[in-house]
Amino acid sequence: MSEAPSPNSKAVPGTKSRFCVQCGTALLLRPSRSSAAVRQTCPACQVTVYDTPSVVVATLPVTEQRVILIRRATEPGHGKWAYAGGYLEAGETLEAAAIRETREETGLEVRIAGLLGVYSRPGGRSITIVFLAAAERDDWAPGPEALEVKAFEPGQIPWDGLAFWTVTYALEDWLHVCERELSLPSAWRVGPPRL
Ligand SMILES: [Zn+2]
Repeated sequence: MSEAPSPNSKAVPGTKSRFCVQCGTALLLRPSRSSAAVRQTCPACQVTVYDTPSVVVATLPVTEQRVILIRRATEPGHGKWAYAGGYLEAGETLEAAAIRETREETGLEVRIAGLLGVYSRPGGRSITIVFLAAAERDDWAPGPEALEVKAFEPGQIPWDGLAFWTVTYALEDWLHVCERELSLPSAWRVGPPRL
């Protein structure tokens, strides 16, 4: 049922939907009117399906100048170290989602301390937003998606065992903030989170 994209159009990578979410009709590929992209459109109700990236939110909780990481119990990155994080759910604020994911994966209640970084890359399938957080206590316990939870001093970070490039970037940014005693973006409204 799908039409071949025009040879001059760039295909959108990774599009998963094949049927219209509104009426179930098989989607067709059509060139965008405003860009070189090929969009999936429904021939019945004319809906365009945008292949937008997912939003991942995460925290780097810090306690006594040590950063708390999890060793992942799931793929991708099984057995490697990462921040506590996951996908933003519809209707959630970024801050609430980051706090929830941290609680689920580490058992920790954290307070958002600031926006550490926003990360994307060409061809990537997600946008990752990492908050710096303060751990209220240090009685962490791994949740179902973590094999281990551990606090690392800056000199102990397991750089060769990190799960994702975004984890590397976020930890580098944390060290940059620590070493220069930088304050996090003041233009951005930081907590208390509006849950
Ligand atoms: Zn439709």
